[in-house]
Amino acid sequence: MEKEKTYKAHIMLLAYHGQGHINPMVQFSKRLASKGMKITVTTTLSNIKAMKKASSSSVIFESVYDDATEGGVGAPGGFQGFLDRFEASGSTNLAQLIKKQENSGYPIKCLVYDANIHWASNIAKQFAIPGAAFFTQSCAAIASYYPMHCDLSDKSLPFPAFSMPGLPPPKLPYLPSLGAVTGQYSPIIRFICKQFDNIENAEWVLFNSFDKLEEEVVKWMSNLWTVRNIGPTVPSVYLDNRVENDNDYGFNLFKPSTEVCMQWLNTKETGSVVYVSFGSAASLSAEQMAEMAEALKQSRHSFLWVVKPTEIKLPTNFVEETSEKGLVVAWCPQLEVLAHHAVGCFISHCGWNSTVEAISFGVPVVAMPQFLDQMTNAYFVEKVWGIGIQPKENEENVTSAEEIGRCINGVMNGKEIKKKAKQWKELAKEAIDENGSSDKSIDEIISWILAL
Ligand code: UDP
Repeated sequence: MEKEKTYKAHIMLLAYHGQGHINPMVQFSKRLASKGMKITVTTTLSNIKAMKKASSSSVIFESVYDDATEGGVGAPGGFQGFLDRFEASGSTNLAQLIKKQENSGYPIKCLVYDANIHWASNIAKQFAIPGAAFFTQSCAAIASYYPMHCDLSDKSLPFPAFSMPGLPPPKLPYLPSLGAVTGQYSPIIRFICKQFDNIENAEWVLFNSFDKLEEEVVKWMSNLWTVRNIGPTVPSVYLDNRVENDNDYGFNLFKPSTEVCMQWLNTKETGSVVYVSFGSAASLSAEQMAEMAEALKQSRHSFLWVVKPTEIKLPTNFVEETSEKGLVVAWCPQLEVLAHHAVGCFISHCGWNSTVEAISFGVPVVAMPQFLDQMTNAYFVEKVWGIGIQPKENEENVTSAEEIGRCINGVMNGKEIKKKAKQWKELAKEAIDENGSSDKSIDEIISWILAL
């Protein structure tokens, strides 16, 4: 009979719904498991259904909210309705799951929750277990929201805001169910600022980032909370290769055209392809789509463009007219694509995961942020890390084909940009490798939990 596995302690992680949230949380759980921890990842049922079974038997998945039956963001009440139902069912189910473990050999020793699920900290408190808030955005993006939170909660900022000169105010997506704008802040900003509710109760505040990447912001933020960077949360095979069988996220919103993409890339020369993707949530406007199509058509470079089924259709005949140098797919295996030698440039919306992946693979970026934290990430890509160029927009927030073309060439021919991208890639690897800053942070958290 197989000997029962023993663990150092049991940690529960609560992941928010959506590709950009689940990926870093599951990756963090694999890291913890590789260091001898038993892990339960809890999230919505639809997240779990979309997940490939984890390669490690130390990671168990449990649903705390049946959004498949009760309704996701598309059900009545829209996004707000989803949030309300998730909190109502999720908090009860999460409490039950923690309770169930109390008398097992491995009671829960720490609850790591996505900061968007701010109510989780009350559950941790209820069971007297420490909570750790996990932000799936950059330290800088969170720093940029903090003054708004202080304003909204009538607190004064304890010290000057983190300075990002020239950063434009964030563009905001429109989510009608969150209600109308009242007062100075839009409902989406109010929703984002809820992440700071109860944050002072969190023993640790975690980020999918690494110290050198956001050195100054981390210093600034450490005056507020016990901040630790535990990233990049990119699968280990691409970085330090110390986590067994960790070669993908195991989660895909849409079915990726893996074979088609990889076979096509295999026919291309090193550094010759422009990869274009705007992540899982953003959709280009019809005007922007037309300009992007024109830019790619005019460019002398080959391109791989992800156009999701939820996005506006491409101009008529675009695929046929560009078939010699272009490939359009509904979803791709982005990690494999970015890791491929043929990819020389990433036109990205600069979602935080895509940004961290571009850094980890050393792929330079044409930064076209669509909303919220993407704008801070794009600012850092160009102005702080020097690994890309952000094209200019006109008054209607559209970037012309000509401007996109200028930036593609700037990146494809940019020696300094490519050099910086390579340097950051090495620093990303170093951070998560044995005794790197993120590895040390993970060990520190584990030691702290074991000493409880
Ligand atoms: N992604 C993917 N295939 C695609 C497009 C995106 O696997 O065709 C993945 C990408 O690797 C990243 C995630 O989807 O991990 C998108 O997260 P990000 O934070 O960049 O953007 P969001 O979708 O949250 O806006």
